[in-house]
Amino acid sequence: MFGRPCYSFSLGGGLWMGERIIEKIMNGVSVDHIPLGMVWKVAQILHVEGCGERVSLADGCNSVKMPEGKGVLKIENIFPSDGELDLISLVAPHASVSVIRNGLVESKRRVEVPSVLNGLVACANGNCISQDDHESVVSKIYYVDGKFRCHYCGHFFGNGEAEV
Ligand SMILES: [Zn+2]
Repeated sequence: MFGRPCYSFSLGGGLWMGERIIEKIMNGVSVDHIPLGMVWKVAQILHVEGCGERVSLADGCNSVKMPEGKGVLKIENIFPSDGELDLISLVAPHASVSVIRNGLVESKRRVEVPSVLNGLVACANGNCISQDDHESVVSKIYYVDGKFRCHYCGHFFGNGEAEV
């Protein structure tokens, strides 16, 4: 029924190597321009573990836009939901997501961090009411000018501190 999942890793490889390892897919999702080291995080957001689909991922590919290297991820027969795209935007703010159907790119878009995040990110302030296990407060975080701000305690924090 399902083929064995295939994980392709290209660590520190060039674009040529990455292109070679990352195979074309007929149906599914392709995520490009993932920051170095974040490709597995994106894969987890898309629930690749145990999905039974063919997964190709590469990290450290050459990129003009991302000189430190980029990650690329392709998964067959998985199509991300809007909520998953929001989560991807938090770990890979410049990622471009292509949906492929019947071998053709059906849509390609850049992820965008939503202006309000409900229950997606935890406040970085450990004393915040939204972090209190005794309170059933769902986190509510605003994203303004590249920074997060908590609705409850007003704490500002950066992308690196956000726990997705
Ligand atoms: Zn807070």
